[in-house]
Amino acid sequence: MLKITTYSAKETKEIAYKIGKILTKGTLIVLTGDLGAGKTTFTQGLASGMGITKMVTSPTFTIMKVYKGKLPLYHIDAYRLEGMTQDLGLEEMMDDDGVCVIEWPIFIFDSLPDAYLNVDIKRISDDIRSLTFIPHGKEYEKILEVISL
Ligand code: ADP
Ligand code: MG
Repeated sequence: MLKITTYSAKETKEIAYKIGKILTKGTLIVLTGDLGAGKTTFTQGLASGMGITKMVTSPTFTIMKVYKGKLPLYHIDAYRLEGMTQDLGLEEMMDDDGVCVIEWPIFIFDSLPDAYLNVDIKRISDDIRSLTFIPHGKEYEKILEVISL
């Protein structure tokens, strides 16, 4: 587990950018935190680290958006799925050929595979956020190393 405080949206994006640069296919990142915490902001930095030039926005009208970079980025916002507690069939929804990012305001353990990185974002004040990185599975521990570089 790794806890980091950021003092601007830019700083959050910079951390996510570093992570985006080293991601490999099959990676799953679950972003938790209230509305306005910074989950989409984090995803924007991640995407640019993955070489995606298109602006990542909240998928308001679709459950999942796909962005093309070095690897495809599958971006899911579960905000629209609130109240759904059963298995969403995530594994069928995303291919293993890319990186999957899920914004998940409420954590639903049941629907997730064994290995993934959880980034929990808490709003401290207007510009301050506390980011907690919780790796699940050995391969996800490596990702944390890049953050402190
Ligand atoms: P979510 O997707 O979690 O609902 P967003 O990323 O859409 O949240 O919105 C977060 C808002 O907070 C953005 O307007 C962003 O500019 C702002 N913000 C201010 N400080 C930070 C910070 N340190 N990290 C991330 N976002 C921040
Ligand atoms: Mg969002």
